[in-house]
Amino acid sequence: MSIATLYQHFLQSTGVSTDTRKIGQGNMFFALKGPNFNANEFASRALEMGASWVVVDEEAVVPSKKDQYLLVDDVLTALQQLANHHRRQLDIPVIGLTGSNGKTTSKELLHAVLKKKYNTSATLGNLNNHIGVPLTLLAIGRDVEIAIVEMGANKPGDIKELCDIAEPTHGFITNIGKAHLEGMGGPEGVLKTKTELFQHLRESNGVVFINTLDPILANMSKRFANPILYPSKGDFCEVEFIDANPFVRFRVENMDKSFLSAMIGSYNFGNIATAITVGKYFGVSIEDAAHAIVTYKPANMRSQLIEKRSNLIILDAYNANPSSMEVAIRTFGEMTGKKHKMVILGDMYELGESTASEHMSLGELVGEYDFDKICFTGQYIQSALSKAPMKSLYFPDPFSFRNWLQDSKFEDYLILIKGSRGMKLEGLVDFI
Ligand code: ATP
Ligand code: MG
Repeated sequence: MSIATLYQHFLQSTGVSTDTRKIGQGNMFFALKGPNFNANEFASRALEMGASWVVVDEEAVVPSKKDQYLLVDDVLTALQQLANHHRRQLDIPVIGLTGSNGKTTSKELLHAVLKKKYNTSATLGNLNNHIGVPLTLLAIGRDVEIAIVEMGANKPGDIKELCDIAEPTHGFITNIGKAHLEGMGGPEGVLKTKTELFQHLRESNGVVFINTLDPILANMSKRFANPILYPSKGDFCEVEFIDANPFVRFRVENMDKSFLSAMIGSYNFGNIATAITVGKYFGVSIEDAAHAIVTYKPANMRSQLIEKRSNLIILDAYNANPSSMEVAIRTFGEMTGKKHKMVILGDMYELGESTASEHMSLGELVGEYDFDKICFTGQYIQSALSKAPMKSLYFPDPFSFRNWLQDSKFEDYLILIKGSRGMKLEGLVDFI
C-alpha cells in the first residue's frame, strides 16, 4: 500500500495508536513488532477495541475481504514515512531539540512560553525515539502554528534518522554530557550523535539556538552563518543567573526585577534561558515568557522538593548519569538553609565500560564537599567507596538502607536523593 493511500486513511481516522490498551474509537492502529511481541497478532483485537483500520505487515493475519486491514511491507517504516508525509503537509516551524540532559524540561518550558502566543504542540511526555517522534508528528493538528519535537538517542545515527522524519526548521541542543554512554561509543560518540541535529539544520538552512555558556556548543556556533546566541551580554537574548537556593532566580534583558522559578538547581538555568530565547525569537514578549516560566511547575520526580518535619528533601529520582549527577551534587553543595546535609546516591545505569570509573569519580566528587552524611546504595555504586570519604556508608540493598534511615531520626537536614530511574529511590522518602 502506498503512503499516499495510507495518508488518506489517516486523515479520516481520529489519530494513531500503537498500543491495544490505549486505542481510541476511530484510531488507526499500527501493529509494531518488538523483541518480545508482534502486534500483528492483536490486529483483530484492535478492531474490536474500536480501531477503524489496522496497519499490518503479515499477510497471514489479514482475513479475506477485510478492507479495515492495510497491508504494508514494514509497519515501523510505514509509520515513519507517514509521519514524514504529514509533517511535509504542515507549513510551520518545527523546533527539534536534543541533548544529554534536560530535553523534556526544556521542551515543557518552551511549550509553556510559546503557548502564550501560538497554538503550539509538543512531544507528549518522553516520546522521543524512532516510534515516539512519528507519533508526536502525527498528533500535530491542522491548526497548530509551531511544533516542538524532543529527540532522544541511544546510538550514533539515531538523531539523523529522527531529523529525516521530523525535518526540523529550528533547533537546539540542551547540553552534551555523559548519558547513554553504553551504546554511543563513549563521549565522542555522544558529541557526534547530538550534533547530527546541527548538521541537519546547517544543510537545510535552518535556525540554530546556541547557549554560549556551554563551551562545546559555543564552539560549534562558528559553523553557522547566523546562529541565535544566548544568554550572555551582547547575545540576541540576555538572561542572567542570580542564584538557585534552591529555586532558580534569574533576570531577563534590562528589566529591573528578577524572577523566581519553581525549578530547583542551577542546571535548570540553561533550560529556562533557552525557553525565553526561543520565545523571544518567535515574538513572545519577555514579560509573557518570564510569566510562563515562573508559573511552570516541574513534573513528578524531576527535582521535587519535599518537606519532612524539620528536613528538606530534594528528590531527583527520575534519572541519573555522570553529568546530571555532577550538576546536582555541585548545586546541592552550594545550598544553604539547614544545619546538616546528607547525600543519598544510587546507581547510574547504561554506562557500559565506564561504569566503574564513573562511579569512582562520583566518590571523589562528593569528597569535595563537607557533607555530614554520604550514603551509597545499589550494585555499581560500590566502586565509589574507593575514592569517597572514609565516613561514607554503603547499603547494597534497599531493605538494610530503609532500616538505617528509619533508625537514624534525622532533624534539620537538607537531603539530596538521586539515582537512575530503575533504582526507584523515591521509595526511600517514607523512611526519613
Ligand atoms: P531523557 O533522556 O530521560 O529523555 P531528558 O534529557 O529529557 O531525559 P529531563 O527529563 O528534562 O531530561 O531531566 C532529567 C534530569 O536531568 C533532571 O531531573 C535533572 O536532574 C537533570 N537535568 C535537567 N536539566 C539539566 C541540564 N540542563 N544539565 C544537566 N542536568 C540536567
Ligand atoms: Mg526526556
